Amino acid sequence: MKLARYSIGTGDRFGLQGNSQLAAVKKAYNKGVDLAIVWNKSHREHTIVGTTQESVRQEADQAAAAASWTGQYFVDADHIGLGNVDLFLDNSDFFTIDVADFIGKKTDSKRLHDFVSAHQNFIGEYTIPGIASPLKINRELLQEIAEKYLFAVQKAGEIYRYIKKNKNNGDFITEVSMDETAEPQTPVEMLFILAAIADEKIPVQTIAPKFSGRFNKGVDYIGDLAQFRQEFEEDLCIITYGIKTFGLPADLKLSVHSGSDKFSIYGPIRELIAKHNAGIHVKTAGTTWLEELIGLAEAGGTGLEIAKQIYSSSYSRFDELCSPYASVIDIDREALPTPADLQTWTSDQFVKALRHDQSCPDYDINLRQLLHVGYKVAAELGDTYLNVLRQNEAVVSKNVIENLYDRHIKPLFL
Ligand SMILES: [Zn+2]
Repeated sequence: MKLARYSIGTGDRFGLQGNSQLAAVKKAYNKGVDLAIVWNKSHREHTIVGTTQESVRQEADQAAAAASWTGQYFVDADHIGLGNVDLFLDNSDFFTIDVADFIGKKTDSKRLHDFVSAHQNFIGEYTIPGIASPLKINRELLQEIAEKYLFAVQKAGEIYRYIKKNKNNGDFITEVSMDETAEPQTPVEMLFILAAIADEKIPVQTIAPKFSGRFNKGVDYIGDLAQFRQEFEEDLCIITYGIKTFGLPADLKLSVHSGSDKFSIYGPIRELIAKHNAGIHVKTAGTTWLEELIGLAEAGGTGLEIAKQIYSSSYSRFDELCSPYASVIDIDREALPTPADLQTWTSDQFVKALRHDQSCPDYDINLRQLLHVGYKVAAELGDTYLNVLRQNEAVVSKNVIENLYDRHIKPLFL
């Protein structure tokens, strides 16, 4: 199974926007971009919403059939490990194997020794085509990287082999992710991670490193764009090199787990994948749910009331909702509008505060982040929430499509 050169990971917390998401992708596809859609939902999200991966599979199949979709689509088991992969085996054909928790744990000394010995040839000043200055690698650094990453990659191999053995047809896309960790991986680390992945014989098609800067949920990138640009370009060069040198799959590409809506890095990504003739997978999953809320607010009436109700509950349950996401949100609690303030808002005020338009003076980054993690409140409303979405399908769908196409797909691929 091969993944298209360009692919976009989309999430749909409540499972009603599959048609709209595919419509946005199809719009690009009809303009000649071979773009695959990958629906992803993590175990954490399933647990909070109370869904199973089967529902994602049904949604994807239904959307593809309804749209007579001839491009590729996949269902991603997002950030899985051995502890929960069984829940995803039947209904996923894309597996994001997350080994971030194993980074920094040392493997046994024989394996460390063998790895360091096998890669002695990299010691010294090592030139990678496309990277301006040679990589400086000494034995200590090689040893250090092996101690930091080898065990994690072995775990990835273990999980990959488990999926292969237990998934009936054994045919799926494999991604290895290391993004949910504190420290970004350097290009030298990336080089040896790829070497280790090749040693484990993982047919990896996408790899998700951690980049420097803040990738907070649902809001733009915060960090040094020039540094991101350099890291991203160096990673592209390392991957091209790794494919040739370690015999990794020819279509291996970078996966950017954006945490949604990292608009300011789309320019560099677009430019650099063109420059290096590379593919890309971009995951921008969580904001479909915010487009639902924007649609409801725009609709006014009961829609606006429900949107306000969800905000008020989220406000009063701040700690509970924010704690699972503490490392990926930065909310200035004092600056949040109070539920009493919000009660007086018009439809237009709510929409402007929530919509991710940084040029709008009323855009409220704090409110947006709080609502981003407030989906648990909507999940608890159950049918009340789902029914109001269904009643306002036209306006919700318009927002979902415009957001995915105009703010994500267009700047990246068109
Ligand atoms: Zn991730």
